[in-house]
Amino acid sequence: MELLTNEIRPYAWGSRTAIAAIQGRQVPSAGPEAELWMGAHPAAPSRLTSSGQPLNEAIAADPEGMLGAKTVGEFAARLPFLLKLLAADQPLSLQVHPTADTARRGFEAEEAAGIPVDAPERNYRDPHHKPELLVAVSDFEGLCGYRAPEETGVLLSKLQLPSLERIIGVIARDVGGSGITLATVTRALLAAPAERRAILAEEVSAAAARRVDTVPEPAATAYRLVTELSKYYPGDVGVLSPLLLNPVRLSPGEAIYIPPGTPHAYLRGVGIEIMAASDNVLRGGMTSKHVDASELLRVVDYSIYEEPVLQPTPVAPGVVEWPTPVREFRLRRFRVGGLYPTISLPTDGPQIVFCLSGRVRADDGAGEVLLGPGEAAFGAARDDGQLTLTGFGEVYQATTAV
Ligand SMILES: [Zn+2]
Repeated sequence: MELLTNEIRPYAWGSRTAIAAIQGRQVPSAGPEAELWMGAHPAAPSRLTSSGQPLNEAIAADPEGMLGAKTVGEFAARLPFLLKLLAADQPLSLQVHPTADTARRGFEAEEAAGIPVDAPERNYRDPHHKPELLVAVSDFEGLCGYRAPEETGVLLSKLQLPSLERIIGVIARDVGGSGITLATVTRALLAAPAERRAILAEEVSAAAARRVDTVPEPAATAYRLVTELSKYYPGDVGVLSPLLLNPVRLSPGEAIYIPPGTPHAYLRGVGIEIMAASDNVLRGGMTSKHVDASELLRVVDYSIYEEPVLQPTPVAPGVVEWPTPVREFRLRRFRVGGLYPTISLPTDGPQIVFCLSGRVRADDGAGEVLLGPGEAAFGAARDDGQLTLTGFGEVYQATTAV
């Protein structure tokens, strides 16, 4: 295995303590530290520490040797996943990622229109989908997927605002089924004229703040979140999203899987995130970045997401994973030490191994590295490959599911 040098993305919502503390650096850090990227994404590729070579260039120089024939056959000459350590001190934008089909067509259309790939108004920066899985490392709060419309109807009714009556009426009639109702309600909020959106956001957050202490669940949590979000993003209609989306509160080890088209927002906490390697994000609010509401409305999956929280599934002594239908990635957590001072599992595909805590020796059969907290290593694909961990600590392994 080869030790990696990884870049930290300094987005404004990032924590000044979490990533620095994990890596044993001085706390607080000089600026916000939002995401540690481990992978070969061209926007911030990891480097092979020994040579300084960016991982995407090392892969381009020897795709089959690095990724294996199976991965190259299915995903071409690119590492299909990106692993992140994410630390949010403030809410991130309300967002949706496109399906593979939408991403490919959107990318081609924007290329044909001559919009530079790094232009702020560009929606599709690459032709790939971006399903993602987030595993909580601390308590983690977010919003993920639609609630049942009846639930949204009750949450809106209890606010007792005349300006919401039309939307409540749409939900009560529920003509055409929940998908059409949710599409109509989302459009009525996100695609309303800017002035009306701002007034609605202000009215609803004021009403939620007035009632938050007197209502039972699930209204209490929804109104609390609306109230909190409106402090960060006053007048932004995205702050109403807790009324439409499922609030999720993860304990360490629990996860959320976000299929393409599923609206979501991360609110606060530290997590390990794995996704198909892509930068395609459509934002619906709570951001200073580009918002393209009409494209977002076209891409959203308006089905109800009943159970967004995933529990870890044991795969071997000391090892769990969070199964998803995605072929680009598979994430496993190893707890080495105590009863299991050495754990070994077969692994054929390319792998990135990240040590969250402790100190472990990681060996893929081609060579071993010593990993401390916050450090990661890359292992090329090997026939009859493996991962053997020895020592004491909590380690995450990212690989493909092909
Ligand atoms: Zn996302």
